[in-house]
Amino acid sequence: MMDTNEIESYIKAGEIAKEVKKLVKAMVEPGTKLIDIAEAVDAMIEKLGGEPAFPVNLSLNEIAAHYTPTKNDETVAEGILKIDIGVAVDGFIADTAFSVDLTSDGEHKDMIELNEKILENITEIINPGMEVREIGDVAQDTLEKWDKENGTRFAIIKSLSGHALAQNMIHAGLTISNYRNENHKKLNDMAFAIEPFVTTGVGDIYEGNPGGIYVLQSDGAVRDRDAREVLKFIKEKYKTRPFCLRWLEKENFGKLKFVLGMLVRQGIIHEYPLLIEKSKAPVSQAENTFLSYDGKIINTTKE
Ligand code: MN
Ligand code: MN
Repeated sequence: MMDTNEIESYIKAGEIAKEVKKLVKAMVEPGTKLIDIAEAVDAMIEKLGGEPAFPVNLSLNEIAAHYTPTKNDETVAEGILKIDIGVAVDGFIADTAFSVDLTSDGEHKDMIELNEKILENITEIINPGMEVREIGDVAQDTLEKWDKENGTRFAIIKSLSGHALAQNMIHAGLTISNYRNENHKKLNDMAFAIEPFVTTGVGDIYEGNPGGIYVLQSDGAVRDRDAREVLKFIKEKYKTRPFCLRWLEKENFGKLKFVLGMLVRQGIIHEYPLLIEKSKAPVSQAENTFLSYDGKIINTTKE
């Protein structure tokens, strides 16, 4: 059973995430700097009384996830941009994403529409007591029907899934696949994210270079004085939530890049690799967070 604080925090995190989505939708245009979007997202979350649950993912084109800009990043919005926002209130998380087509000829419009349709159709069948596998059925049925009717060949990225959420935990054990599967687990008394990814490519991903997002991984000790300070800050401020360089750069730490490199090499922090579509084809993402409690399920992040 969830207590009142937990339920209220999940709901408040969702309310903040909705406001952040509105802000981003109003500001993203072809040529908008990703760093400007990221700074606006961070500021809005703070203003509304939340914390980022993870650095906003601003992943372009064939990059499915895990890119966040650094301070002097010149990367701009173009092609298709996935905006994946995480808000935490008392550690309880809202995780939501959408995709924007920034091409002049609407190249990715259909893919985004299909992706949203998959999420919408899943949302319609969500009910207490349902099994995880029902979500995969709906996702795959929706895609197959779309392809048949439109003569297209889209693919769901099978290695990217929805997931259970918990306090300060983005991935809390349960995986929610977006294709037919045999997971009979019920979605009772938990928060979870549903996030189908669609592509025109083969529908698989590989791990690329690091994308600027880190997370505390193990409890090892460090001798270096600067490293100890950085590690103490990370443990207190982000706990087990992912973080990024641009946040740490605001804190005036000594030799920060060196220290982060050292902590990564020692396995104390993990640096997430970019997730890139295997055939380098464009990828779309749509995601909402759901809260299952008291025999009902609500969508916390849908506008
Ligand atoms: Mn997400
Ligand atoms: Mn997610």
